[in-house]
Amino acid sequence: MLKLFFEKPTSKKQELKKLYLLIHKYGPINKNELIEMTNIKKTTLVRMIDELLKNNLIKESGFEEKSIGRPPILYDVEQESNFIIGIHISRMKTNVVLVDLRYNQIDQESFAMTSIHTPEFVIMKVENIIQRFMEMFDIDEEKLLGIGIVTTGPLNRNDGIILKPESLLEANWGNVHIVKMIQEKFPVRVILEKSSNAAATAEYHAANSVHKNILFCVSGGWGMDCGIIMNGEILQENYVSTNGYGHMIIDVDGNVCSCGKRGCIVAYTSFKGILNELNKVKGLVGNMNDELFQKASLNDMMEYFLQGDKITEDVIIRSSQYLGIGLSNLINLFNPDLVILNGPFIYDYKDYFIKVIEYTKKNIQKEKEVIFTQGKLKENAAAVGSAILIFDSYFLD
Ligand SMILES: [Zn+2]
Repeated sequence: MLKLFFEKPTSKKQELKKLYLLIHKYGPINKNELIEMTNIKKTTLVRMIDELLKNNLIKESGFEEKSIGRPPILYDVEQESNFIIGIHISRMKTNVVLVDLRYNQIDQESFAMTSIHTPEFVIMKVENIIQRFMEMFDIDEEKLLGIGIVTTGPLNRNDGIILKPESLLEANWGNVHIVKMIQEKFPVRVILEKSSNAAATAEYHAANSVHKNILFCVSGGWGMDCGIIMNGEILQENYVSTNGYGHMIIDVDGNVCSCGKRGCIVAYTSFKGILNELNKVKGLVGNMNDELFQKASLNDMMEYFLQGDKITEDVIIRSSQYLGIGLSNLINLFNPDLVILNGPFIYDYKDYFIKVIEYTKKNIQKEKEVIFTQGKLKENAAAVGSAILIFDSYFLD
């Protein structure tokens, strides 16, 4: 119903749309609070609420407890009137989530990505998962608000194309018209976005929009990327979204990076960068040939590093310093009040998270008050964020 109502709204419905959005954001909420927020006359508001109720878009959700006399009715969105699907495709796995209109996760399924996972194979598997969700929860195309797809860049979000990701294992992931391919199976709204932008959006909502400026950074592994929320909105880089953050230069005469330049942050913080450093210092681990590295999973790599010696530990902890410098540059530029760090070393390597914060704080302007966390949604952040972006896309005008 929501789709019918909001897809191509008339001017009268524009007003209803605004009211619905307020109830979505602040509900459960009573009539008087809505009147205060909107300046709509009471009789008009009553009529509007009735229309939203009649169309099953909102519901009465109990009474305000604290008031004296007849308690006012509270209104909230009918959160299971529609559902959204979020898909996060990364080097390690493809994660598919089903959420309701309050972004609660109703179901979730993921599968590992390997060198045999072509785009066609992945889409076929995703299609099966979506069909299972739809059957299990009795969702038809009318109830499915849309499908959000997120992955690492570079990508062309306007035309829905994954261009040439650095990190996906299988060789055919260049120039994949993924939005069109998914829409051929499910004729609903489908959008493509960079995973770090979606993850930042999800964490923004998970923190109840308290922090208007957020820096989300995923590092370690096969690259580094950031998503920035400024004044509650994604800071879009450009039409073609790249992973420029990982190639931010932090050392003028530094290590040679995979991009050909010197001193990029990923030349120190990625698995490959750390392996190169370890190779120089001849510790217990580090001498891994390219063929093995190409096949290694995230767990393989983390286990390999964790089984290293003191030299390994020193190199890994030193890399946190480089990440800290890169982060402090971004914080000094964009002024986030919340910084969310994500990645294998952040989660699973002793003291790494603490050291990154330490080095970052050392290099940011003294007056800045910044909170550092690992986020609330962890590995589901990007997929949930893509679902939120679908919801938001109905209200952009
Ligand atoms: Zn580079």
